[in-house]
Amino acid sequence: MATFSSANPWIAILKGLWVSIRHFFGNLGLFLRGRQDFAIHFPEQRLVQPPALRGMPVLAQMADGKERCVACGLCEWACPTSCITIYPAETADEVERYPEIFDIDMSRCMFCGLCEEACPEEAIIMSRQIEIASYSRRGSLWHKADLLVPVNQLKTRTDYLRRNYER
Ligand code: SF4
Ligand code: SF4
Repeated sequence: MATFSSANPWIAILKGLWVSIRHFFGNLGLFLRGRQDFAIHFPEQRLVQPPALRGMPVLAQMADGKERCVACGLCEWACPTSCITIYPAETADEVERYPEIFDIDMSRCMFCGLCEEACPEEAIIMSRQIEIASYSRRGSLWHKADLLVPVNQLKTRTDYLRRNYER
């Protein structure tokens, strides 16, 4: 049977304490020299969002006001929490489809981005919007009209995707 040396846990604990003490006195020294920015005072102050940030998923809206989505259902299928609901309908020319209903239950969304990865049309995009609190379960159900965002406002994310995923 494997046995553990009694010295090892104490060395690990002492190393951990040393890290904490070093940071404590380092930060105390900075504070005494006048540094104040140890905390972000939200909402007056905001963190700088990294380019890879995945906020809430939204639907890309084209210049003619329509959604880019063709209601293929791949995002709905890929979503691990089943929070996307799509009811497809045919467009007037009966060639393409569009989502008559496209809902996302944000109370179940975990911002994983799998819907975005599954989409062949770059139609569902992880936006930079992370402040989406609501006071009720019903308020967290976002409909198509709420989800549409002009495609030029999603440029930071689409540029990032094209750069890093060779789209
Ligand atoms: S981000 Fe993830 S959980 Fe949210 S809708 Fe997309 S696939 Fe579903
Ligand atoms: S995968 Fe893209 S095109 Fe297909 S239904 Fe979802 S958002 Fe629409």
